[in-house]
Amino acid sequence: MALIVQKYGGSSVGDTDRIQNVARRVKTYRDRGDRVVVVVSAMRGVTDNLIGLAKAISPLPSEREMDMLLATGEQQTIALLAIALHALNIPAMSLTGAQAGIVTDGVHTKAKIANITPKRIHELLDQGHVVIVAGFQGETREGQITTLGRGGSDLTGIALAAALEADLCQIFTDVDGVYTADPRIVPTAQKLDEISYDEMLELASLGAKVMQSRSVEFAKKFGVVFEVRSSLNDNPGTIVKEETKKMEGVVVRGVSLDKNQAKVTLVRVPDKPGVAARIFKALGDAAVSVDMIVQNISHGSGTPATDLSFTTDKPDLAKARKVIDDLKPEIGFGEVIATETIGKLSIVGVGMKSHSGVAGKMFDILAREGVNIEMISTSEIKISVVIDLAKAEQAMKAVHAAFIG
Ligand code: ASP
Ligand code: MG
Repeated sequence: MALIVQKYGGSSVGDTDRIQNVARRVKTYRDRGDRVVVVVSAMRGVTDNLIGLAKAISPLPSEREMDMLLATGEQQTIALLAIALHALNIPAMSLTGAQAGIVTDGVHTKAKIANITPKRIHELLDQGHVVIVAGFQGETREGQITTLGRGGSDLTGIALAAALEADLCQIFTDVDGVYTADPRIVPTAQKLDEISYDEMLELASLGAKVMQSRSVEFAKKFGVVFEVRSSLNDNPGTIVKEETKKMEGVVVRGVSLDKNQAKVTLVRVPDKPGVAARIFKALGDAAVSVDMIVQNISHGSGTPATDLSFTTDKPDLAKARKVIDDLKPEIGFGEVIATETIGKLSIVGVGMKSHSGVAGKMFDILAREGVNIEMISTSEIKISVVIDLAKAEQAMKAVHAAFIG
């Protein structure tokens, strides 16, 4: 008799048929005698619709109210799944994040889990219930509803698996596992049997939409081994776990493309100590996520000035622009150029630690495709470039073909 945490994403619960499918799958585990905790996302499209409603009223809605609004998406699904399980004569009870004991900090729309007290979950399991928990949400110590950032149901699933010391954690989605690239863009992409946390983390944060990156960080920190698999078939998925020696033999495990980034360039920023600190402190204070930063060498005569570019998530762009515009009188830079037509293409593999010439090979492929590189960043196991969105998919296919096949 195992304790299993299963998380089902928005597409797995996309309509009432699929919710009934999930209920049947849960039933098979339950019939085996397992104790099952199910975490669900909002039905596909629901969160985006809610955001659309708010944005139709205000370009910068209050983040506290956004949490209040978005948390309703998952609440629909938990209740519908409970109803579907009841229809199969399975005792089941749904819980909001708060009812499940998920306590977060107070950063609305991207709260962090502070702790989980799963007392109620244990009680319900002891009474023989399947427990269904709303993903993506929690509450502060003061009782304010919070959400955990887009894709945050994954974090709920992983964090509950850790808190409950589950025997098995399964992340159900609409793909068979983690692929070497998005198969919708790269038809030759292959499913991986296993991948290390670090590789998965880079792929997730780099826009391989399989999982929310914070949830993988959390899994790594707490050593939660989990499986990513499909809710539409019974194929084995991809196991995500700590790196093994064998994994280093492969140079590039995966290629990812993030189309959700925007680039902001500040022209002629005064080149003196404290300016970058001022800009990025202000962005940080506004909870704007900044990814890549590139600063050029000073140019021109008179006061030295430099161009400064950074990338941020597209949804943060309006907030970023406001912060930058507010700083302009104080710092005195020139024009601000913001563009959303960029893509971040990345190759990832723990094998890069022990192989050389990987960057050169990647840039050579891009050159042959006639793709200009606007920004570059690297880590021990990753190389990323920012390129024109219009050429991004073509570039991704070429890079995948050269490194993986
Ligand atoms: N419903 C939320 C979202 O769409 C959370 C999730 O799906 O994991 O971002
Ligand atoms: Mg999701």
